[in-house]
Amino acid sequence: MNCFNKHFISSGSLFDSLNPVSVKSGTNLPVYTGQPFNFVPFSVQEVCKGLKLLDPRKSPGPDLLDPYFLKLAADFVAEPLTTLFNLTLDMNEIPSVWKSAFVIPLLQGGDPAVLTNYRPISNLSVLAKVLEALVCEQLKEFLHTNAILSEYQSELVHTYKYLGILIDDSLTFKPHVENLVKNLKLKLRFYFQNKLCFSFNKKKRLVAATFLPVLDYGDILYMNASAQCLRMVDIVYHASLRFITNRKFQTHHCELYSQVGWPALVSRRNSYLYSFIYKAIPGLLPSYICSLLAMKHAGRYCLRPHGYLLLSVSFARTEFGKRAFVHSAPLAWNKLQKELKMTEFISLSVFKSKLRILEAKSITCNCFN
Ligand SMILES: [Zn+2]
Repeated sequence: MNCFNKHFISSGSLFDSLNPVSVKSGTNLPVYTGQPFNFVPFSVQEVCKGLKLLDPRKSPGPDLLDPYFLKLAADFVAEPLTTLFNLTLDMNEIPSVWKSAFVIPLLQGGDPAVLTNYRPISNLSVLAKVLEALVCEQLKEFLHTNAILSEYQSELVHTYKYLGILIDDSLTFKPHVENLVKNLKLKLRFYFQNKLCFSFNKKKRLVAATFLPVLDYGDILYMNASAQCLRMVDIVYHASLRFITNRKFQTHHCELYSQVGWPALVSRRNSYLYSFIYKAIPGLLPSYICSLLAMKHAGRYCLRPHGYLLLSVSFARTEFGKRAFVHSAPLAWNKLQKELKMTEFISLSVFKSKLRILEAKSITCNCFN
């Protein structure tokens, strides 16, 4: 018995030597200036509910009150216990027996004769746990209604920012696109205010250097966003083209594309995706990406006249699954191969020049055909 005592006391002191965990405070922690927190006296109903939530299989703690008994007798003992609980809040004191615990050694496996194979389990007084749960409820309620918890502490986080991309929990990329469009509109406003200062070529270079990289960043991630979402991006892109060309608002977008010599955003995104896939096929990207793609091997005795490099398309059941890289990338690649008909790998730069030719072809307007 004393061996256990000594062992558990010494393992407890291990934590004293550890550095305190530093909690990084958020930069935008809300400052709370409202009403301070005050305990509201517990009602008999609350206490009764708390007692009925007890797990009857748990063992009693130092107050020797069995949770099975307390749960059974909840309707009868709730009233006197409410008085006791409210008294502890008024006096800022709790019965000393509630502060102690029965410590039980629990064998974690291995040799039962070795002390380090045991973990201490604390059995607290059941009433202390009921009080703790009631106090916790009031605190949570207060923090929630006054919105004191920062977004980091709140359980409901809907968007995450990772490497500058806002990722929402349903992968719509709407928050990211909205944020992107907001930033680009700010740039555009500045451009239009100063449009008379620049020639066509200067404006084209300005947009190419400061506007397109922002648009391109992460575009193969958000390329599967809804059409409505992507239209917002198209609108700012077309506005940037009108800034370069000085054309009127009603100008058809294909005219803008051909005058500036740049393709539609969807072509830009596709080209980027094709280059990405082209690097992934021979394993030039991290293995967790490359392993998602596999070449489609024609049968050994296949007498097909062509041996285009095709990828095998994995099966996708849901709409969500169809947007996954493992399914959409092989489909996109095989579609591209109908055009390129490549039978062997060429250097990346030659491949990219082929893509640029395709992009240039896409500039010719097909909208009214
Ligand atoms: Zn058109």
